[in-house]
Amino acid sequence: DLYPVRRALLSVSDKTGLIDLGRALAARGVELISTGGTARALRDAGLEVRDVAEVTGFPEMMDGRVKTLHPMVHGGLLALRDDPSHVAAMETHLISPIDLLVVNLYPFEETVAKGADYATCIENIDIGGPAMIRAASKNHAFVNVVVDVEDYDRLLAELEANDGQTTYGFRQNLALTAYSRTAAYDAAVSAWMAAALEEGAPRRRAFAGTLAQTLRYGENPHQNAAFYVDGSNRPGVATAVQHQGKELSYNNINDTDAAFELVAEFDPEDTAACAIIKHANPCGVAKGATLIEAYKSAFDCDRTSAFGGIVALNKPLDAETAEEITGIFTEVVIAPGASDEAKGIFAAKKNLRLLTTDGLPDARAGGLTFRQVAGGFLVQDKDNGFVGMDDLKVVTKLAPTEEQMRDLLFAWKVAKHVKSNAIVYVRDQATVGVGAGQMSRVDSALIAAKKAERMAETLGLAKPLTIGSAVASDAFFPFPDGLLEAAAAGATCVIQPGGSMRDAEVIAAADEAGLAMVFTGMRHFRH
Ligand code: 5GP
Repeated sequence: DLYPVRRALLSVSDKTGLIDLGRALAARGVELISTGGTARALRDAGLEVRDVAEVTGFPEMMDGRVKTLHPMVHGGLLALRDDPSHVAAMETHLISPIDLLVVNLYPFEETVAKGADYATCIENIDIGGPAMIRAASKNHAFVNVVVDVEDYDRLLAELEANDGQTTYGFRQNLALTAYSRTAAYDAAVSAWMAAALEEGAPRRRAFAGTLAQTLRYGENPHQNAAFYVDGSNRPGVATAVQHQGKELSYNNINDTDAAFELVAEFDPEDTAACAIIKHANPCGVAKGATLIEAYKSAFDCDRTSAFGGIVALNKPLDAETAEEITGIFTEVVIAPGASDEAKGIFAAKKNLRLLTTDGLPDARAGGLTFRQVAGGFLVQDKDNGFVGMDDLKVVTKLAPTEEQMRDLLFAWKVAKHVKSNAIVYVRDQATVGVGAGQMSRVDSALIAAKKAERMAETLGLAKPLTIGSAVASDAFFPFPDGLLEAAAAGATCVIQPGGSMRDAEVIAAADEAGLAMVFTGMRHFRH
C-alpha cells in the first residue's frame, strides 16, 4: 500500500510554512505545480515551479474563480493508477498524475468574522480548492491531500520514513481530515447565508465544526470526547487564551461557557459582576462596586458549592480579586483580560486555570443553540430575550420600590441562566439563594431557602438573607404554592412571566401575603 509522491500541486491562501515545504519536496525530487500567488512565492524563494496555467493550457481567469477547474488537473487527481482504462485515458490526453495536493482555502470564515460585506464574502467562497480537495480525497488509494499547515511536518516525516512514499493508512487519514474541512467550509457558507437571510425560524442549513482539541475524556472517564469550534470567533471559551493550569476538561468547557455567558449579562460599563458556576448552574452571582466586592458577595451565596467552581468576571481580573479567589480551590477563572500582577498571583496555583478573552460575549446577539436527541438534534435561536423596566407590569396592590425593582431585574437575569425549574432569591444585587433543576417549582423555592438558612449559619447571621429578598421564577407559578413557599422564606417581591390559567389566584395570594409582584410576559426555560 506504499505509493510514491512524484508530482505535487500546491495552491494555498495561507502561505505559512509553504517555502519550507516546497524546499523539502523539491529536495526529494518532487515536481511542483502551483497557482498564481503560490507559484510566485515559491519562485521568489528560488524554487522551480510549473504554473498550473501551463498544465491546463488555460490562463487563470475571472478574478481567480477559474484556475484549476480543468481535466488536466482533475484527471491527474482522480485517475486510478491501477486501472488500465484510466491509465489509457491519461496517455491519450497527456494527463500527468498528481500524487500530492496541498491546498488551504480562501479564508471564508475569517472574512465573515471580520464583518465583510456580502459581495466580499461571496468572492471568498473557494470553488476550485474544495473541488480539488474532494477529488484527491476520493482517490486516497493513491493521492495524498494536505489541507492544514499543521500537517506539513507530518507529511514530510511520513515521506522520510518511507523513502519518498506514503502508506495507505496515512493517506486515508489525510482524506478524512480533508473531507471534514470541506464539510465545515460549506457549513460555514450555509450558516452565513442563513444569517444573511434571517427571518426568524432556523431554516434549512448545514452544521459542522472543526476539531479544536481532543479532550482527555467526556463527562465521565469512560467517554471519549473532543471540542469543535464553529469558526465564528466569538469571545468565549472557544477563543479564550489559557495562561496556566491543566488542560480544560469537557465539564470545565461546559461550565466555563455557562459562567461567561451569565456574567456577560452585566454591562461592565455599569458595574463589576461575578458569577460562580457549579455543574452549569450558578451558585453565586453578584454585582459590586469593584470586582473583589462582586466576587465576595457571589461567594457568600453558597460557600460550600463554590468550592471547585468556575469563576467568571465581567472586567479584567485585578490583583486583589486574584488574591481573594486563591482563598479556596477554583477550577477555572475566565475574564476579559487580567493584569500582570493578577497573573503573577495565580502562577503560584498550578491547578488553577486562567482564561482571558478579548471581550465579553454579547448577551443580546443572535445565534443558534443545539441539543442532541436520539437520531437527530434540536436547533433553536439562542435565548437572547431581554426584559427592561418598561416591559414589567405590576399586578399586585403593592408596587415594588425602586430598590426592589433593581433586585427583581437582577434576579430575572440570573434566573435565565439557571436550569428549570429556577427560583432565584436576590438581595442588594447579589443572589442569596438559587434553586435549580427541580421537577417542581415548589421544591426549587424550598431548596434555595434551605441553602440560604445554612449559609446564614456559616456566616454567623441571625437570620437567612432571603428575608426581605426579591425572588425570580423563570416560568409562571401554576399554583400559589410555589409563591407562598418563597414568601415563607422571606421574599417581599416577585418577578415572573405570568400567563398561568390561575394567575388571578396567584395574584390574590401575593396580595394576601403582602408581596409586590411584576409580570415580564417572557419566560426563560432552560432545560
Ligand atoms: P494563489 O494564491 O496561489 O493564487 O491561490 C491559492 C488559492 O486559490 C487557494 O486557496 C486555492 O484553494 C484557490 N483555488 C485554486 N484553484 C481555484 C479555482 O479554480 N477557483 C477558485 N475560486 N479558487 C481556486
